[in-house]
Amino acid sequence: MSAKRSTVAVIPCDSYDEEKVYNCIKSGLNELGGIGAIIKPDEKILVKPNLLSAAAPEKAVTTHPAVLRAVFRLLAEEGYTDVKTGDSPGHGSCEGAMKALGLNDDTMFGAKLTPMSENVHTDFPEGLTCKEFDFCREVVESDAIINVCKMKTHALERITGAVKNVYGFVCGYRKAAGHVKFPNDTVFARMLADIHRCTHPRLHIMDGIMAMEGNGPGAGTPTPMNVLLISTDPVALDTVYCYLINLDPEVVPTNSQGTRMGIGTDKEDEIEIVLCDSNGQNTDAGSRTITKDELFEKYGNGSFDVGRDKPKKTFLMKYSGFMTKIARRPFIDKDKCVKCGICVDHCPVPGKAVEFKNGKTSPPVYDYKKCIRCYCCQEMCPRHAIRPVRGLFRKH
Ligand code: SF4
Ligand code: SF4
Repeated sequence: MSAKRSTVAVIPCDSYDEEKVYNCIKSGLNELGGIGAIIKPDEKILVKPNLLSAAAPEKAVTTHPAVLRAVFRLLAEEGYTDVKTGDSPGHGSCEGAMKALGLNDDTMFGAKLTPMSENVHTDFPEGLTCKEFDFCREVVESDAIINVCKMKTHALERITGAVKNVYGFVCGYRKAAGHVKFPNDTVFARMLADIHRCTHPRLHIMDGIMAMEGNGPGAGTPTPMNVLLISTDPVALDTVYCYLINLDPEVVPTNSQGTRMGIGTDKEDEIEIVLCDSNGQNTDAGSRTITKDELFEKYGNGSFDVGRDKPKKTFLMKYSGFMTKIARRPFIDKDKCVKCGICVDHCPVPGKAVEFKNGKTSPPVYDYKKCIRCYCCQEMCPRHAIRPVRGLFRKH
């Protein structure tokens, strides 16, 4: 047993070859004591991928089907019979996103696709920042959740990983209201931590074989990182992701707030990183503890395109969102925009902070005074025409 608080298994994996991915996940789970130590066979399981939108697997927008199929296969082989899978994408349907990955009830080793479209209001009086949620029914009705997230960048939170992926528990369009209620990266991260405190996902598996850098989570560049990460601690897992891309874990709000709110740890001396073999065998022979420096030397990418600046927040600015507002703003590339209006539809601000000014004769225009910098517009733009730019007075 590790003396450290949290273990993160790192399994090198340089392709989406199905047998290889399966063996890697098996190896990582062995390091955590096996799936049986985490979930009982008679429990109702929800496997929650990142299905941001209907996108081909090679775009790295969604959890790769090989990773999901490996999880389903492992659960089936270990005797788990009540397994559902789904997500609540911000745009489009769960079924559409799964179809784009080539997944359906016939290709998921007995796991059943579930729509995640019915809302159940959930009171959470223990919430530190959020005391009620509108969760998808499947979240409320499951006994154990397996969070199968994707290694990507994120315009609001810098990265999206294990902590951020639970926002898909919130049902459909109700996500937009959350952005208005929690309008900056810090309070939004605290709300995400409350979702973890309310729903207690048991296991977190990150697909970092082909990651996404740059303009994530929907319009970035696929970049091989060649790893899978597995942990029962979402913050520790995301912290190890930060080590791999040379990003100070403390500048990621989901890490710092997640640690403060007790859903995990981003403290180096509390995290044991275990490098596992890729053959699915008992890890006694093939795994060893590794330092974060050694991890970076072997598998890291210091030029991974992610925001690394360290905003200096005063006490007063900390929760006001002021720094968030002056630091960056969304910008539309007119050459890429097809004037579809999806960004306008998804802007959660009453009265809209992005709108067409002359019908659809020209791209929508921002009102930066209204804009809360939630980046829902950037996340949902199907043409990748929106990106965050720095500096309030910058000319483009
Ligand atoms: S969603 Fe993208 S392509 Fe559509 S109108 Fe907005 S900026 Fe243009
Ligand atoms: S314009 Fe975009 S970033 Fe600004 S509030 Fe609306 S959706 Fe959010």
